[in-house]
Amino acid sequence: MAKILKGATAQETHSAILDLIRSSGTATRVELAQRSGLTAASISRVVKQLLADGLIVETGPGDPTGGKRATLLQFNPRARHAVGISIDTLSITYVITDMNGRVIEQLASRGIGRDTPATAIKRIVNELEDLIHKADVEPATLVGVGVALAGRQGAGESLLRSRANRYAWEPFAVMGKLSGAIEYPVVVENDSTCAAIGEFWAGRIPSVNDFATVYLAAGFGLGLVTNGDVYRGSSSNVGEIGHMVLDVKGPSCWCGGFGCLEALAAPARVVFLAGQDDGLVRDLGLHGRNSAIRADFAKIARGAVAGDQRCLALIEKSAWYLAKALLSITNLLDLSQIILAGPGFSEAGEIYARVASNELGRLSFVRAMHSTRVELSKLGPSAAALGAASLVLHSRLTPHQTSNRALTS
Ligand SMILES: [Zn+2]
Repeated sequence: MAKILKGATAQETHSAILDLIRSSGTATRVELAQRSGLTAASISRVVKQLLADGLIVETGPGDPTGGKRATLLQFNPRARHAVGISIDTLSITYVITDMNGRVIEQLASRGIGRDTPATAIKRIVNELEDLIHKADVEPATLVGVGVALAGRQGAGESLLRSRANRYAWEPFAVMGKLSGAIEYPVVVENDSTCAAIGEFWAGRIPSVNDFATVYLAAGFGLGLVTNGDVYRGSSSNVGEIGHMVLDVKGPSCWCGGFGCLEALAAPARVVFLAGQDDGLVRDLGLHGRNSAIRADFAKIARGAVAGDQRCLALIEKSAWYLAKALLSITNLLDLSQIILAGPGFSEAGEIYARVASNELGRLSFVRAMHSTRVELSKLGPSAAALGAASLVLHSRLTPHQTSNRALTS
């Protein structure tokens, strides 16, 4: 802490002390001085400001020290809120959280599909306004909007994973357009990285653990946490596991390659294969339209869970391809924990986890040394939106940190 505060600005010092109180549960002024290396006078000044801002509250006397009971200070999670939005071709998920990551309100909406950027942004702004109204949070306590994007990050702003509209979305500055349309600051990040941050922030993963998150919406993405910090690569485009080539002579992929995991196993592929079976199309009432891929995939996945052998074969095949990709990733990175998150795993995530666990247990190069657990996220389809919300809180409230470690301890 003393090292972090050396040469820090006033704002950085405030955020570091706030983070110290948050991660401690409760703390006295004396403890803060000892742990931060700041003088009692400096701590007193910072605490006074944090109390005035409502970010902390006094909760009564603590343990007696030298006959006098020092006042305990506690983090006030409802003093600020953030919005997280995950945007994908098949689904859009919104959450409003407090500073502890507790979801105050959420909304699931259809994805951008074939919408033009202008149409989609207009709808997102409207849905966002409805959500804020429904959540009944004081607008002044909203610090910003975090956006988890499915697609290539061009200088942190663009979106692409839509086949039909990729040329319309590729150069489109999502962050700039959203910032111009709403009054809150906007932060943008890759959705699979956001999902990893969401898992981390929700407190389920100890900060010492290395783990990967596979995020499935329209396509597959991989978020990585190592040494308690997210790994972003050189341009925040890390983890494109969906374009890992599993079959060099496989079907063409919209990315320009062939035999990618996404082309072999994404929801659109599963729905396409189901469409070859007229009986299955009839029995499940599959629509077969691009705009219905999410709904059709959910029907097939639910059928698999219910024991329909035709559905089970399709989902297990998709899961088997994912397992093969995870086998390579695990051998490359020596992972011991993989979490499956996102709307694509909502219905049949257990099947994906089972198939991947079996494959890694059977074939992981390090299986004799340690297991690699594959488990479902407890955050449901909101993992990426939650991570995006945490990015906002992090960037606004703990700018002294270069990672997301602060929000997870
Ligand atoms: Zn590809």
